[in-house]
Amino acid sequence: MVLYPNDVSEQGKELRLRQQYFLASASLQDVLRQWVRANGNDFTHFADKNGFQLNDTHPTVAIPELMRLLMDEQGLCWDDAWDITTKTMAYTNHTLLPEALEAWSVALFRELLPRLMDITYEINARFLTQVAQRWPGDCYRQQRMSIIEEGDHPRIRMAYMAIIGSYSVNGVASLHTDLLARGLFADFYQLWPEKFNNKTNGVTPRRWLSHCNPGLKSLITEAIGDQWISDYRQFEQLKPFADDVQFAKRFTAIKQQNKQALTDLVFKNCGVRFDIDMMFDVQVKRIHEYKRQLLNVLHIIHLYDRVRRGDTEGMEPRCVLIGGKAAPGYVLAKTIIKLINNVAQVINRDHALNDWLKVAFISDYSVTAMEIIAPGTDLSEQISTAGKEASGTGNMKFMMNGAVTIGTLDGANIEIREAVGEENFFLFGLTADEVEAIRPEYDPNHSIDEDDDLTRVMSLLESGHFNLFEDGIFDSIIAAIRSHSDLWMIAADFRSYIDAQARVAEIYRDKQAWARMSILNTASSGYFSSDRTINEYKEDIWHRELKNETNS
Ligand SMILES: *Cc1c(COP(=O)(O)O)cnc(C)c1O
Repeated sequence: MVLYPNDVSEQGKELRLRQQYFLASASLQDVLRQWVRANGNDFTHFADKNGFQLNDTHPTVAIPELMRLLMDEQGLCWDDAWDITTKTMAYTNHTLLPEALEAWSVALFRELLPRLMDITYEINARFLTQVAQRWPGDCYRQQRMSIIEEGDHPRIRMAYMAIIGSYSVNGVASLHTDLLARGLFADFYQLWPEKFNNKTNGVTPRRWLSHCNPGLKSLITEAIGDQWISDYRQFEQLKPFADDVQFAKRFTAIKQQNKQALTDLVFKNCGVRFDIDMMFDVQVKRIHEYKRQLLNVLHIIHLYDRVRRGDTEGMEPRCVLIGGKAAPGYVLAKTIIKLINNVAQVINRDHALNDWLKVAFISDYSVTAMEIIAPGTDLSEQISTAGKEASGTGNMKFMMNGAVTIGTLDGANIEIREAVGEENFFLFGLTADEVEAIRPEYDPNHSIDEDDDLTRVMSLLESGHFNLFEDGIFDSIIAAIRSHSDLWMIAADFRSYIDAQARVAEIYRDKQAWARMSILNTASSGYFSSDRTINEYKEDIWHRELKNETNS
């Protein structure tokens, strides 16, 4: 409530801009103070020795602020200050959702930071001259690329400021970088293709394996020594052990222990008793429509419907865990949490269901909770609408701990599937290109009508079966699924998802086949070490060696 006030209100917005300016300016002033102490006001080699990696658009106000500090405080001229700025700033984009790109109101920005407003206008004027030279007479393109979004309430597009003021722009997974270049930032990619590069995210194996899964850490170390902890390339050496029956037995026994720890956490948090002999099917992440917790709920309702109809052939008993927080102002996300809880209550109270299905919603999802959740998971749900999840890192934590993924071709899922092999990944759903191709004529009601399973699931939802004494509370969710403009295409991927879940059940029944897949997931997760990611930033963006050699 203090750091991320709900920015639905104007007051919340102003506080957030103040925070961003305070942190960006303090960081820059700290660096400049140390530079001046050592070098006086000679900034000739400043750019060789310093780099600022903009982690999303949040610190982008650092670009005009560095200009201000260099000109107004250090006495540099515009051209020298701009040269230093564009040789030190680099920008990492973290989202493809256009509504998540920051845009400050010009009125607010001018009131709070008048000097930075002047500098921003000057940056923009000089930039638009460049655009006009590259595309003479293309006024529409100048308007599209302008830092200032015109209108009754003009706004500053912080992502454009970040691209214009930086020498490097990167996305956080291969598909994400591709989509930035082809879509969101296509104009800028055409102007400066050399600025764009990919840095696929990673997670640290120290926290996300050694620390959180000591049992697995010991087993791996016994098999291949302990160098894998600091050398991600050595994960690969585990691959042959996927076919070692003794190793697989011990690997599975450790998973069962970790499932017991997760069972205890779930019971403490939500009073639901999981059973470690059932499959643990887990989706934990922020609650958002694009991440499609709703699709997961539709599958749960489908399984519930099957058991009630006695159609359990080929089914596998499951404990489904969903967890995550919703932003305070995101009403539909709060409603999704309510739906998950109501569905869980109906299912868990029905004794006919107990041997087949248990459902829990874990509140207060955090890194500390994830350290228990990832090691105890069998199936990792990564089911976002293709083209919407920039990378994901939860997917990597699960993989490292031997969970098998059911997922769409989105974010780093694509690279996870390539690393582990398509036979060890449960793929479903439309591709990012298919999603955009279908969108204009998307008709969810048609998808519902032609699929008996989805028709029954929607009937249960619409009959009020999960909100008997809470009339109409899920109307907004039902309307979203049935809307032709459902951005997230829930109904379009339902059939493909249900079929993929049936394949999961079939493989899970074969304990040896599942253990093999699980071991191969851990063995193929080395690429998703943040050590690899950080090295790539170092070599491709920060040119550390070079900067160290010039002056150590
Ligand atoms: C890893 C992690 C995330 C990110 O999860 P995604 O599935 O990639 O969205 C969010 N919150 C917590 C607490 C995490 O540990």
